[in-house]
Order: sequence, then C-alpha cells, then structure tokens
Amino acid sequence: MIKENNKTCAIIGSGIAGIGASIRMRNMGYKVTVFEANSFPGGKLSQESIKGYRFDFGPSVFTMPHYVDELFELSGKNPREYFNYIHLNPVYRYFFEDGTVLDSYHGKKEYARQMAAKTKDSEETILKYLDNTEEVYHLTADVFLYNSLHKFKNYFTKSFAKGILNFGKIGAFETMNQANEKAFTDKKLVQIFNRYSTYNGSSPYLAPATLNVIPHLEIIEGAYYPIGGIYAITQSLVQLAKDIGVTFQFSSPVKEIVVEDKKAVGIKTATQTYKFDKIISNSDVYNTYTNLLPNEDKPEKTLRQPKSSSAVIFYWGIKNDFKQLGLHNILFSENYPEEFNHVVEKKSIYHDPTIYINITSKHTPTDAPPGCENWFTMINVPNNSGQDWDKLVADARENMIEKISRILKTDIRPLIECELLLDPRVVEQRTSSAFGAIYGNASNNKFAAFMRHPNFSKKIKNLYFCGGSVHPGPSMPLCLLSAKITTSMIKD
Ligand SMILES: Cc1cc2nc3c(=O)[nH]c(=O)nc-3n(C[C@H](O)[C@H](O)[C@H](O)COP(=O)(O)OP(=O)(O)OC[C@H]3O[C@@H](n4cnc5c(N)ncnc54)[C@H](O)[C@@H]3O)c2cc1C
Repeated sequence: MIKENNKTCAIIGSGIAGIGASIRMRNMGYKVTVFEANSFPGGKLSQESIKGYRFDFGPSVFTMPHYVDELFELSGKNPREYFNYIHLNPVYRYFFEDGTVLDSYHGKKEYARQMAAKTKDSEETILKYLDNTEEVYHLTADVFLYNSLHKFKNYFTKSFAKGILNFGKIGAFETMNQANEKAFTDKKLVQIFNRYSTYNGSSPYLAPATLNVIPHLEIIEGAYYPIGGIYAITQSLVQLAKDIGVTFQFSSPVKEIVVEDKKAVGIKTATQTYKFDKIISNSDVYNTYTNLLPNEDKPEKTLRQPKSSSAVIFYWGIKNDFKQLGLHNILFSENYPEEFNHVVEKKSIYHDPTIYINITSKHTPTDAPPGCENWFTMINVPNNSGQDWDKLVADARENMIEKISRILKTDIRPLIECELLLDPRVVEQRTSSAFGAIYGNASNNKFAAFMRHPNFSKKIKNLYFCGGSVHPGPSMPLCLLSAKITTSMIKD
C-alpha cells in the first residue's frame, strides 16, 4: 500500500532507468509523471517489426534479472505474473576465421572445462582468471556500482576501505588486454575476454583491467533470455508502473527544465509548463545540460569526456534456419587491435569487423515466419562526428555479408528478405543520446568511472539524473542501479 506524500515528480524519458525510477518514486509516495519524446516507451529497449519479423531494437544480453524482479517485489507484486525469463547455457557461440567454434557456458567450472578442452590454456588457468574476476567484482561493486561515487560520506564505509586496501588487485594500472595477455597463452581466449570492453563501448587496449569484471556478470552470475524478448522487460515494467499509478505522457518531448533561484521547479513541453517538486532526467546528461538547461552553468569537464562507441545494426529477415547458430553468436575479426584502432582513433569502420548476430526466433519462434530467422546483425563503430555514414554503412554491409557467408559457408545475400538499419544517426535521433554514443562516456582511461556525471546536480536543487550516461554507467542492470541510487538519495 503506497503512502501518499502529496509531492510530485517529473521523469524526463522512459528508458529502463526512467521507468525504474518512476516505480521507485511512486512507491515513495510521489505522484509521478513520465514525459517521453517518442510515442512508445523504452528508449533503447524498444522494438521494430517488418514483414512478419520482430526485432529488439537495442540490448540483447540480459544479466542480473533480480534488478527487474526487485521492482515488482517493492511494489507488492509477483514478478512472475508480469514477466519471466529462462536461463541460458551455453550463452555465446564464438566463431573464428580458422574454423574454430567455441561455446561459452555459465558457471566457472563448466566454462573452464569447456574452454580448456578446445584452447591451449588449462582448466586451472581459466578458473584462476575467473576466481580473480569474482574477487575484483566483490571488491569493487559496492564502491563503483551500488552507491554514489559522488557523496563524501560513501568514502568512509567499510566496503570503500576494503576496496582501497586492495587497490593493487583491481587492475587500475594496466589495460584489459595487458592483463588478458598475461593470463592466457591462447590468443582466442585473450580476444574473447577483451571483447567484454565493448559492453560499455570502450577499447580493451585502453580501458583499465578493472573492467575485466564484466564477464563475472555473464559467466559467474549467468545470462538469461526474457520470454518474448528484451522488449518484454519494457512492457512489463510499464504495466507495473501504470498499475501502481504512474502517469505516462508519450510524444511529449521536454523542452526545458525550469530553474528558479538555483532550484528546479518544473518542466516545459511544447505546449505547457508544469510544476514539480522533484525532477529526474533520464535523458542523456550531455543533452540535458545542452538542450534543457541552456542558461545554467555546465559541468564542462564531465561533458567534454570522450564518448563511447556506437553501432551499425542490420535487422535482417533471413529466409533460412541456420542450425549452427544460437541466440548469441560472435564472428571475430582477425585483427582486433586494428578494429579498435579504427573505432577509437580513425573514427571509421575496419573492413574486417567483429560481427554479433542475435537471433531471438531461436527462443521465440513467432519473431520470424516459419523456417526463417530474425537476425540482429551488429558491429561496433565510432560515435557520430559527422562521418559520411551512407558510405561507411554501405561498405560495412558488403564486408559483413562476405564475412558471414565465408564463416557459415553459405551465401547469405539471397536469403536477406527484408532489412531495417540502425547507425549512430538513428541512435541519436531516436534516444537523444549525444553523438549517437550508445553508452555515454567511454571508459578508455582509469579515471572514467569518476568522470561520469553524479546522480544529482551539484548546483541545482531538486534535479537528479539516472540512466546509462550517468553513474554507475550503461547496460540494463547498471541503469536499474542508477535509478535505485538516484531515488534513494531523494529518500535520504
Ligand atoms: C545496440 C545496443 C545494444 C546494447 N546491448 C546491451 C546488452 O546486450 N545488454 C545490456 O544490458 N545493455 C545493452 N545496451 C545498453 C542499454 O540498452 C542502455 O545502457 C540502456 O538501455 C540505457 O537506458 P537509459 O535508461 O539510459 O535510457 P535510454 O534507453 O537512453 O532512453 C532515454 C529515453 O529518454 C527519452 N528522452 C530523451 N530526451 C528527452 C526529452 N527531452 N523529453 C522526453 N523524453 C526524452 C528518449 O526518447 C528515450 O526514450 C545496448 C544498447 C544498444 C543501443
């Protein structure tokens, strides 16, 4: 039973963090209105359909499902009445140009056993690496993920002291690739573990080895598939929010956050001005300052940080059933350093990119017509700095078709029945992400975590932030954590 507090809260944006924050604020007794620029909810967690094929628009790898369940439990509801998921094992199928195929499994022992059987490294070596990953996760999660990094009081907690005392262990002074090359003799394992840097749009040749904790979530905690696809998360959370009394206003882009005497007091849309007691922006923080707070001081240093990578995705309807593919498939580049050099330094696309193919029709057959598959075919690309995207995308499409056809030993060109496209311009236009960067700031240096914007404004009272562009960072679980941190600050 919600205890009303007669206060109001506006949330700008219905990304997963915005929806999560709306549910938490409503449970704290606020009257909550979510303003969403699009006519649909979810931001990056939305969907598209064409000719009988359905595609999740953005994320596909679902970890830490308990952060979704938690929102239902907090609201006194049974999550299983709204939403369910299945456990994946194996999680990924990795393809290499020399014909090697490796599957990644959930669970340290199983992962190590399976990988050791097909690589040059022993089960003990792989287990030791995963044990270390787990230890670093437990040393860092409290400091970097569960709490604000920008509240002085959090620097005097037991977990912070533990993190500091074990600073040498967390790998802040070497890159992910340096640590992985030390750990493994097999280049394929180095490449597999380096790839996790792309989960926050960074390069393994620049990002600190602390980010080698990312596989912990997938390999040790496990990966899941929401029944009905990732969009089921958005649908069920929006339903929950509505059921507990949150109001959504779609097709309502917020044009300005109204500030009086250094206090946020309301928001303006194209047609109306509304008063609110608290305002939480789930819009990209760069655009929140640039577009919605044009007359306020900006945290220039934070906003100037280099942005993460973006993506080119072809959503292809494929007239075939590829038995050798699973839900998550990776076709690796033969030259990983050069691929990242193109994304980060040259701001271009390498001719042999690593390709990710996600096929939800493997688990949700209605996502494609019978005998067909819905391919979400993605490569990492730089964010938008005005490149000739039409040319880059056309070249990438040819290179991707050739590479996939080579590795699968089937010419896929005639099998592509229909196509939708995402490139950095689409990300920017559809989710208001600055420069079409998918993950906010890049994590290509050891201070990046500290340079993410806090979950609150230091200068404007009653103004808060949540989502992938602020602390603790991008991905579905971290966005849900950002909603949790933000709303618990308001509660405090
Ligand atoms: C291609 C791709 C693949 C990804 N893969 C994964 C993955 O496998 N696993 C994973 O966990 N994460 C993944 N991610 C990252 C994850 O999707 C994001 O970190 C997360 O969804 C960001 O959510 P958010 O709450 O920050 O809001 P966003 O999804 O960015 O949404 C923001 C919302 O705010 C709205 N908005 C912005 N400005 C305004 C305004 N002025 N007025 C009103 N509304 C406004 C936008 O329209 C949008 O709906 C992926 C992302 C992409 C794009």
